Amino acid sequence: MPLTPEQQEEIDALRATPRQTLRAVSEGMEKHLYTAYPVLDHGFVRVIDYMGDDNAITQAARVSYGKGTKSVSNDEGLIRYLMRHWHSTPFEMCEIKLHVKLPVFVARQWIRHRTANVNEYSARYSILDREFYIPQPEQLAAQSVINNQGRGEALSGEEAARVLEYLKSDAARCYDHYEEMIGQEGQQGLARELARMNLPANIYTQWYWKVDLHNLFHFLRLRADSHAQYEIRVYAEEICRIVADWVPFAYAAFEDYRMGGATLSARALDALRRMLAGETVTQETSGMSKGEWREFETLLSAKG
Ligand SMILES: Cc1cc2nc3c(=O)[nH]c(=O)nc-3n(C[C@H](O)[C@H](O)[C@H](O)COP(=O)(O)OP(=O)(O)OC[C@H]3O[C@@H](n4cnc5c(N)ncnc54)[C@H](O)[C@@H]3O)c2cc1C
Repeated sequence: MPLTPEQQEEIDALRATPRQTLRAVSEGMEKHLYTAYPVLDHGFVRVIDYMGDDNAITQAARVSYGKGTKSVSNDEGLIRYLMRHWHSTPFEMCEIKLHVKLPVFVARQWIRHRTANVNEYSARYSILDREFYIPQPEQLAAQSVINNQGRGEALSGEEAARVLEYLKSDAARCYDHYEEMIGQEGQQGLARELARMNLPANIYTQWYWKVDLHNLFHFLRLRADSHAQYEIRVYAEEICRIVADWVPFAYAAFEDYRMGGATLSARALDALRRMLAGETVTQETSGMSKGEWREFETLLSAKG
């Protein structure tokens, strides 16, 4: 279960006590505030707090550019301009604080994003719950033969059943020993900070994660991308849905220029210009490596 009854009670109470405020409010975000959206089998994402909206971005930009922003008179156009020209600081005026419950192996990827503030559940003080991520059958996939960092087709039949059984029984066994080591009647009990080392990486942890919108977009660009591992991607996709309601203009610009757009090297740009002029450009005449050329072709195809 992603939320305990106590957590749900707390959320209901918070949502039942609205307060008047003079602060900027994003109507789109208010409906998400505190609500926990389930992710994977026991995880969730919920917004604890936020600061700013689309207007906060343009306000900050107008301070820095003054009269210079007159040429872009509407907020949507200005936000698109800022995104297009990599003017990042106005986006840093917005912040979001999330409560995330996620498997430890996902947390290891997530924590690599250093530009956030994190406070994690302490397994030194507290006892971790008996909750493990067990993939759905369609995610129980074989090692990819084309990508060392990815997965291929789903396992099937006896192999799938055996793998699933290993994942479940190993986790259960480790947790049984964890509990046993921490405290049995008549024993001293091993310190929690030591007993936890026996737990597998698919056990769930929780943290508060606060980040500004610029760095959140960077995180989403990398983790909502098809190259990201499925188990972190589903969290990033859930956050994308929330951000789209929070700052609709900024999110639309992000989708257009970052998620849907691409950066071309000078060689790729030259090849493209020559193609548009009617020249048949090949990998050899482009000056690009085989790998670059493959990526360039994919980019120009419908799949890119
Ligand atoms: C598909 C994928 C595969 C990956 N595979 C691996 C892997 O095999 N092994 C591995 O170790 N990692 C891997 N990573 C993690 C990756 O290398 C980055 O560590 C991670 O994505 C965080 O990116 P970041 O440093 O840009 O983000 P953040 O830490 O949020 O930083 C954002 C930006 O701030 C700046 N910045 C932050 N801190 C510093 C600093 N101390 N010094 C200078 N500039 C700083 C940089 O410009 C940085 O881009 C992978 C990531 C992805 C998305």
